[in-house]
Amino acid sequence: MALIKVHDKTFETYLPEELIQQRVKELAEKINADYKGRRPYFVAILNGSFMFASDLFKHLTVDADICFIKLASYKGTQSTGNVLTTIGLDEDLFGKDVIIVEDIVDTGKTLHHFLPRLMHQQPKSLQIATLLHKPEATEYPLTLGYTGFEIPNKFVVGYGLDYDGLGRNLKEIYQLV
Ligand code: 5GP
Repeated sequence: MALIKVHDKTFETYLPEELIQQRVKELAEKINADYKGRRPYFVAILNGSFMFASDLFKHLTVDADICFIKLASYKGTQSTGNVLTTIGLDEDLFGKDVIIVEDIVDTGKTLHHFLPRLMHQQPKSLQIATLLHKPEATEYPLTLGYTGFEIPNKFVVGYGLDYDGLGRNLKEIYQLV
């Protein structure tokens, strides 16, 4: 079991590279079968999903579009609480078969707030593809169409996921010791 240090914390190998690659390929094959004859429109949420989205996309054989968006929270001038704003979603999703690509679903709060915005545009269908899901941590119910791995409620880094900016370049996924 390899141990690594990211900033001040120690992590151990949790999902090796081959296992991640194998699972990503399986998810892509399932999408290829499910979307045969259609043209899915992938909406990948930055920053964490860039590596997963890229590897998933390489295994697609159906025609597909992809765009990358960023969700940012800001304090509204009038309202209390955080408002979620979307950067980079300039296409109209009306009538499209949309697949959201996430790195990890933790509490589910991010997608819970984001989904109504997408639904507002009346896509033909909407699915979520997430590499990781922490079922124990999920507070907001979501239907996840494509899940890579269900993992325990422990902090992970690697394969696009960071700890305070570092660790995204790692090919494996590591878990906090
Ligand atoms: P949620 O809104 O589902 O609680 O959180 C989703 C976001 O929280 C993810 O897109 C990710 O940025 C961050 N996150 C949740 N759990 C982890 C984790 O274990 N490691 C890392 N690096 N980020 C996480």
